[in-house]
Amino acid sequence: MDFKKSQPVDDEPGLWRLQMEFMAEAERFFGSRDQSKKIYQPSWDVNGPYVRYTPSKDGAFAELGFNAKTDWKMVVYQLAHETVHLLDQHGGKQTHLLEEGAAVRFSLDMMKKYGFDTAGLPEVDSYKTALKLFDSLGNDSYLIAKELRATCDNFISIDAIEIKARCPDLSENIISEMLSRPVMR
Ligand SMILES: [Zn+2]
Repeated sequence: MDFKKSQPVDDEPGLWRLQMEFMAEAERFFGSRDQSKKIYQPSWDVNGPYVRYTPSKDGAFAELGFNAKTDWKMVVYQLAHETVHLLDQHGGKQTHLLEEGAAVRFSLDMMKKYGFDTAGLPEVDSYKTALKLFDSLGNDSYLIAKELRATCDNFISIDAIEIKARCPDLSENIISEMLSRPVMR
């Protein structure tokens, strides 16, 4: 899409198209999303980005931070990340670092794909840790994450036994860090 033609905050159709493109890519990398849940139009929140569930939890949508309202680069960074969290829609339970790392890795790769510079990203230490943990799955990190998610049904149910089965060289400490759940977005 041509990012120069509009401001994100004024371009609902453009945002929706981007959401659909990211979801198609996320499903290619991590396997199908939970089809029983809906994905709604991305929105904005002063405390974003995060995933907002509808009151009935029939679906969810990304709420992007105000710093993305006039900045497509930030939209790509934030929306691609939240798209990974929209695959399963577990209703707001705390995600583990492996899912966070998958979201960070995916968002950086989508930025590259759409021609944005990723220098200095991610900024937050907890995201850097999560990214390192995801990358420690090895050269086939995406494929391993996809297999783990398929075997365990969703990201949140991935367990140490399945990780160890695919990555026997990973230490128990690294695996338990992957599955730890510090408060993040
Ligand atoms: Zn996240």
